[in-house]
Amino acid sequence: MQKKILEVDNLHVSFSTYGGAVKAVRGVSFDLYEGETFAIVGESGCGKSVTSQSIMQLLPKHSAVITDGSIRFKGKDLCHLPEKEMRAIRGAEISLIFQDPMTALNPTLTVGDQLTEAILQHRDVTKDEAKKAVISMLELVGIPNPKERLKQYPHQFSGGMRQRIVIAMALICEPEILIADEPTTALDVTIQAQILELFKDIQRKTGVAIILITHDLGVVAQTADRIAVMYAGKIAETGTRADIFYQPQHPYTKGLLKSVPRLDLDDADLVPIDGTPPDLFSPPEGCPFTARCGYAMEVCERVYPVKTEVSAGHDVCCWLQDERAKRAILSS
Ligand code: SF4
Repeated sequence: MQKKILEVDNLHVSFSTYGGAVKAVRGVSFDLYEGETFAIVGESGCGKSVTSQSIMQLLPKHSAVITDGSIRFKGKDLCHLPEKEMRAIRGAEISLIFQDPMTALNPTLTVGDQLTEAILQHRDVTKDEAKKAVISMLELVGIPNPKERLKQYPHQFSGGMRQRIVIAMALICEPEILIADEPTTALDVTIQAQILELFKDIQRKTGVAIILITHDLGVVAQTADRIAVMYAGKIAETGTRADIFYQPQHPYTKGLLKSVPRLDLDDADLVPIDGTPPDLFSPPEGCPFTARCGYAMEVCERVYPVKTEVSAGHDVCCWLQDERAKRAILSS
């Protein structure tokens, strides 16, 4: 049995805006286990990045607030940790990779200096020991001639190589959890595949647990062990990769799968999900997918569906899973 290393329980996050409070995350719960890749998938604005920023405690201070819930890591609730303690965890125990490598790297410092500095901030090692660790980390992420290349600046690397350096930066202190927020969106398809393969390789070698945040189901098809599908600030369905790709139960998950290009289908077979997600200033009481769902029933609009365990570890929030709805469908 894998050990649980992070527990997110009933997380609620709101943003204050001139138009009122936006309820961006509304009761998200999930566990992360040692050495696994857990993907959070959903359309832009569904709350997936806000969830990852909450784990890192990197939400914009003046506009965002965690209104309820907890994020437990090593017996501590990160939501209530003093910033000084959180700073010691960030980078050293939980690391974050952003979408755009250029924003994560300092263009005025060599790659070697930036990586060495990151180690010296968190570890009690000499400069020489730090430099050796930097060289082996650059080797691990597939940078050729690391001894020479650590003297170069970020702009001297290609986009794919820069993303490898950002990954090296995130891993340099050997964190237990790596959060990758749309890590391949800025890259072309070939480089994207190489970076995803690199994540798997690093995981095999280091045992790091990865939270992969993406809008693209194609990205998780090869890499994720478990997947949570988010919609309008809530998790609609959670399951293993096989559950989500071969036994999807939630109409939104099914819609997402039909809208992803596949090698065995023509582009003409792609079906986009009509409509738009609900306004999160005043989210609906019931299922937020009601307005876009071809199966919506009267109850869907009024009451949020209870979570149903379809099989071990495969949970769905949809009234279609309710026995009464199943009986009604069978008898119609
Ligand atoms: Fe559709 Fe109702 Fe299920 Fe929501 S609860 S996904 S509206 S059937």
